[in-house]
Amino acid sequence: MLFAPSPVAEIMSATIKDEQFEGHSLNWWEPASTFKLDSILLSYGTTPEMDIREKLKIPNNVIIIGDSGGYKLLTSRARGKNVNIEPLDVLRWQEKNCEIGLTLDINPTSLRAPGSSREKSIATTSGKTTTDEYFNKCLEETCKNNEIFQNNRAPSKLKIYNIIHGGTFEKMERMDIWYNRVKDFKFEGWSVAPKPAGNPLKIAIDLGFLYSRGIKENIHVLAVYGNSALPILVYAKKKLEMKNISTDSFGQALLSIYRHHKSLIGPSLIYTEKNKIHTRVPCFCPVCSIIKNVEDMYRTDNTGYALISLHNTWLTIHFLKYVEALIENEESFQKFVKKYNRLSEGITFLNNTIDYGWEEAMKKISLIQKPLTEW
Ligand SMILES: [Zn+2]
Repeated sequence: MLFAPSPVAEIMSATIKDEQFEGHSLNWWEPASTFKLDSILLSYGTTPEMDIREKLKIPNNVIIIGDSGGYKLLTSRARGKNVNIEPLDVLRWQEKNCEIGLTLDINPTSLRAPGSSREKSIATTSGKTTTDEYFNKCLEETCKNNEIFQNNRAPSKLKIYNIIHGGTFEKMERMDIWYNRVKDFKFEGWSVAPKPAGNPLKIAIDLGFLYSRGIKENIHVLAVYGNSALPILVYAKKKLEMKNISTDSFGQALLSIYRHHKSLIGPSLIYTEKNKIHTRVPCFCPVCSIIKNVEDMYRTDNTGYALISLHNTWLTIHFLKYVEALIENEESFQKFVKKYNRLSEGITFLNNTIDYGWEEAMKKISLIQKPLTEW
């Protein structure tokens, strides 16, 4: 599976300024990086520079997935700010820089403005159901953008993915309404943005929907969160035989912002000036093994944030590799799944989708009400 992490601002800043640490670049794509990964997600909403690939020194063999800025529109709206993004500008930026680009979506779920920075992860990933009127307005606006994308393409290597929105637990039927309205646009792939982002069942529902509509390749799952989310994608790839499935699972970026040094074997350690309690570097990954002095973990400049973020990114890749190896043996994988209730729900949903179809799988979890005549 293609995992394209989104770099935190400090990693981008350190890269542009050529800041190194112990002779290593503070990213995962330059020759002197501590580890390599050949994929990255960038968003037009955050880095709209036309020469962003050169600016960030990203080699041509590294796949850039280009988000359109739809998420930026959504979060700005939640904070009451007005941001304008032109679809044609996004398309040209994607053609110049990216291998995969997502259409400029107007997300119909409403995110509330976070009350504090601590609350940011919950506020920006849960998503609330909106009114029918608002939903239709977002859908029509997205279709207008899709038309601009479809009719103005210049020759390039770019594959464009059509985003499906709409499904929240309260109103799952909206996913079908959205899909039917956008399905005839001529693009190369599909993308879903499950909300809540950390809910394995919701991710399974969105992937099961694609499967039921015959979509089995070129699929991007936007911004899923947490360790029980990635196994769902790995399972879908194998069991639903999905090809070219990618994600930008962003838990590692959020943890980095809060200065959590994530661990797979216990609680994460937190490195903040206010609470200076750790006196050892707690890991021997390719990033942490170059840190000689724990004080560097407390730095609040680009280097400090980048080190924590790179460790978290490396750990996420490590976890993904583990799950990808585990799934080769059904029995070991099922043992692993049983440890996580919410992951089990998602796996069961995908199995039901294969056996009985998506609509039936939905009825089994009572999200779509059966008509009385079918009881
Ligand atoms: Zn480490």
